[in-house]
Amino acid sequence: MRASDEQHMAQALALARRGLGLTWPNPAVGAVVVSPEGEIIGRGWTAPGGRPHAEAIALEEAGEAARGATIYVTLEPCAHEGRGPACADVIAEAQPARLVIALRDPDPRTSGAGISRATAAGIEVTEGLLASEALDIVLGHVYRVTQGRPAVTLKTAVGANGFVTRGDGAPVWITGPDARAHGHLLRARSDAILVGRGTVAADDPSLTCRLPGMSCRSPVRVVLDGRLRTPPSARLFEDEMVPVWLICADDEDQPNAERLQERGAEIIPIPVDAEGLPCVVEALERLAGRGITRVLVEGGPSVARVFLDADLIDEAVIYQGAEAVGGDGLLPFAGEGLDRLTDSGHFTNSHTRSFGADRMTVWRRNRRCSPALSAT
Ligand code: ZN
Repeated sequence: MRASDEQHMAQALALARRGLGLTWPNPAVGAVVVSPEGEIIGRGWTAPGGRPHAEAIALEEAGEAARGATIYVTLEPCAHEGRGPACADVIAEAQPARLVIALRDPDPRTSGAGISRATAAGIEVTEGLLASEALDIVLGHVYRVTQGRPAVTLKTAVGANGFVTRGDGAPVWITGPDARAHGHLLRARSDAILVGRGTVAADDPSLTCRLPGMSCRSPVRVVLDGRLRTPPSARLFEDEMVPVWLICADDEDQPNAERLQERGAEIIPIPVDAEGLPCVVEALERLAGRGITRVLVEGGPSVARVFLDADLIDEAVIYQGAEAVGGDGLLPFAGEGLDRLTDSGHFTNSHTRSFGADRMTVWRRNRRCSPALSAT
């Protein structure tokens, strides 16, 4: 390891983050090529749609100068051919002197093979640099290939007294514009946003990213709607460029399916749980099967509770406004307060940030066992 290695890997990680929400079904990866003199001669991050890959872009920029250079990549280069050659082969051909990797890819098509192909080509390989930071970025990809589900972030907004508002046809803002803009950034960095039918009925949200110039980064909108009671007139269907997937129960006929399909919705029937609701574990498996790696759950208290009870929340982003929510407020986990998550011992407060009078706290699930980090 060299002194400048960490700095260059941090640059590659920053590039990788640019792809968040855009690269599914592929992971968001960053790559930096550095000359022996320490000059950055190539940069790349996974292109929207997942191809081309970061390494290929960075090496193309570096051209002949890549020979003898060092390439920093946030995830082990792929060893399987897709629409283009495998990145491990592209690297072997470019002949850098060193390959520095943050995290080994648990994808069985690559795991270890990307590294051994580089080693066989005479390239010195170092792995594990800033691995934890890299895992934060590709957690959804890691879970998708190891557990068959995407990573789940829960987003909720509570008043100073810890209550959420009861929707009645229009969204009620608990927090100010800066916190809300940050919430839209979370949407942009997600592959899909998931709510329950109750949220559609209460707020009639569009669920798109409404930051200036970022509407094209709106995630797939997913509604858990057992009986398909989402009205075809819902605002969800106004933006036809952004997909709407309705997950419903597969146990009986769905008379509304056709009208909703005419509005552009894709209907995904799945088995129901003991309460007769679409099973969230199954729902996540279906999303992973369609390539989704990062899901933002923005549903109301019932949906939040179901995900918490099923131990499916990997990260919780809690916005807290400065004022209390009035008398008809609800507890954020359907009858239980935030402490159900924050005092559970399963989550650690990873950071806190202020937006004017509002506060955001981010809680991450304690990683009991990380398949990517423990892979050898
Ligand atoms: Zn690749």
